[in-house]
Amino acid sequence: MLRAIYPGSFDPVTLGHMDIIRRSSNIVDELIVGVLNNNAKTPLFSVKERVRMLKEATKELENVQIIPFEGLLIDFVKKMDAKLVIRGLRAITDFEYELQMSQTNHKLAPDIETMFLTTSLEYSFLSSTTVKEIATFGGDISQFVPPVVIENIKQKMEIKNKKESITHE
Ligand code: ADP
Repeated sequence: MLRAIYPGSFDPVTLGHMDIIRRSSNIVDELIVGVLNNNAKTPLFSVKERVRMLKEATKELENVQIIPFEGLLIDFVKKMDAKLVIRGLRAITDFEYELQMSQTNHKLAPDIETMFLTTSLEYSFLSSTTVKEIATFGGDISQFVPPVVIENIKQKMEIKNKKESITHE
């Protein structure tokens, strides 16, 4: 049985991520989407919120599970008893970082492989950061994210804008 881990921040999940999730879930028997709790970054959504949105967005995919993790990716992969890591490649700019990470992981855990799926053309420009930028200025993100994200991001932005207007008073 082939179990793979697709790790990332997913802050928030985009249709680019969904494309990779859907396509890799067709290749492997079980796909675990690992949601990274990274203390070094200040995310817009908490891990709990990111997990909840991913669960909703993937509810129709029977062999997909959403699990949060922190610490080293290879430790999480081993804990989940998986042998394969899946990452998405958008552009050449992703490549250097991804190559470095996969080679480092391979050194640390030689029996774990990384597999890259190249993004579908229509999502090659898409990132969580772009989505957050558009949403900050009240733009329409409906063609970039699953429906569950739209409502959640709206609420987040309202809270954020309220906080900012208070601190600027
Ligand atoms: P990280 O913070 O680890 O880069 P992300 O949540 O940004 O996590 O992305 C997780 C994975 O999804 C990465 O492998 C990234 O390259 C991939 N990815 C992100 N956006 C897209 C997209 N639009 N199309 C395909 N893959 C993507």
